[in-house]
Amino acid sequence: MKTLGLIGGMSWESTAEYYRTLNQLTRDRLGGLHSAQLVLYSVDFADIEHLQTTGRWEEAGTVLADAARALEAAGAELLLICTNTMHKVADQVAAAVTIPLLHLADATAQAVQAAGLRQVGLLGTAFTMEQDFYRGRLTSHGLTVLTPEADSRALVHRVIYDELCLGTVREDSRAAYRRIIADLVTAGAEGIILGCTEIELLIRPEDSPVPLFPTAHLHAEAAVTAALA
Ligand code: GLU
Repeated sequence: MKTLGLIGGMSWESTAEYYRTLNQLTRDRLGGLHSAQLVLYSVDFADIEHLQTTGRWEEAGTVLADAARALEAAGAELLLICTNTMHKVADQVAAAVTIPLLHLADATAQAVQAAGLRQVGLLGTAFTMEQDFYRGRLTSHGLTVLTPEADSRALVHRVIYDELCLGTVREDSRAAYRRIIADLVTAGAEGIILGCTEIELLIRPEDSPVPLFPTAHLHAEAAVTAALA
């Protein structure tokens, strides 16, 4: 099995789920006491979030590029950035190392295509929903991407940073997300991409009338497949 290198901590609430999922999937595939071989570099999310809100993406990219180099030096053979949003600096991170980066949007788009769907709703941070680094990557795979109206985007974004990244799961926020998912389905979404790695802590399959694509799980699944190939 290849050694995975995880850049995590954004937030650690979802990185903990990555760790669990990677290990569970490895045990499912190999059986017995097998578990994932990996190195984790977990950052202080307060620093990263400050760089995000002040628009200092290149500095944030430098922090993650340094983490990637450390992971490669520690023996990682395949790199994962364990957040959708920070794929904004994926090229900068990938350029810092010689090992391949497993892009979260590619793993997600492949899962959507494997399900035979083409038009999807996207929930995530405002950066992910509104900027081209993520949507554009999905559309380059032939997908049509729908996002919520501005008010709903603001709510989805706020719940991520003020609740989910702090480990808070609220029923009223789940109800609000359910309404936003229903609106996306009315607008034509055949599936919903949970394009923030914390959303799957809140939203379960029964919260949506159409298939969900939980990005942390799909990313972990693609990583295990690649590590065992
Ligand atoms: N984990 C989140 C994501 O997948 C948001 C936190 C971040 O800004 O990195 O986008």
